[in-house]
Amino acid sequence: MPARKPNPVTSSKVKALAKAKLETPLTARAKPAPAPRRRKPVDRATVAEVFRRFRAANPEPKGELEHVNPYTLLVAVVLSAQSTDAGVNRATRELFRLADTPQKMLALGEDGVRERIKTLNFLNTKARNVVALSRRLVEEHGGKVPSSIEVLQTLPGVGRKSASVVANIAFGEPRIAVDTHIFRVANRIPLVATDNPLDTQEQLERIVPEEFRLNAHHWLILHGRYVCKARRPECWRCLIRDLCRYEPKTPAP
Ligand code: SF4
Repeated sequence: MPARKPNPVTSSKVKALAKAKLETPLTARAKPAPAPRRRKPVDRATVAEVFRRFRAANPEPKGELEHVNPYTLLVAVVLSAQSTDAGVNRATRELFRLADTPQKMLALGEDGVRERIKTLNFLNTKARNVVALSRRLVEEHGGKVPSSIEVLQTLPGVGRKSASVVANIAFGEPRIAVDTHIFRVANRIPLVATDNPLDTQEQLERIVPEEFRLNAHHWLILHGRYVCKARRPECWRCLIRDLCRYEPKTPAP
């Protein structure tokens, strides 16, 4: 039987493919890494047990931002962006002694506010927002802080998270504002499987039983700040250790 001649078209195609493969960097050829598998959130009964334990350990949790009325709470929340509560409290003790109403804050003016919050970051923007929101409160709301999240969000420097914090603490709205601590804790246990704070808030407000919803924000934030820390969660002393699916748990030092 005569030997089969190589097909010139096919063989040139094969050569071209082999050449392309050789010239393609290894990283470009590598298959993309599979997306990390999200852990399934715990069931509703476990969610309830998590908050039952938080409540038993701390029946009346409090936020750590110092304030004397809804207005000073609103200002403290606006100042707390990218700053610690302790840092904000150091700055606001003097600020609120001088100005605990929007009218007094307007009288103090942007320079006066800036002078009192100079230890905080983004002080120019924050001072401008504090004065601008005070002006809006005086001109449009009779000097009062509105209780509606939608209206709060229209004030300068007030986003959804800040509005939810104010509505929750000052007006008893069962809203669960999600900051970096709550986002981390909620996805570690996991109470939810989310990749952004907005979805986290929506899901938490849906799954946390009503009896715990008002204080859930405080419990989760305090847990994240003092126990379930970002770099090294202190699992060995965590009161929900047996309910949490995060692995590996941190052993006692
Ligand atoms: S067991 Fe560890 S990871 Fe889980 S909630 Fe407690 S501190 Fe966080």
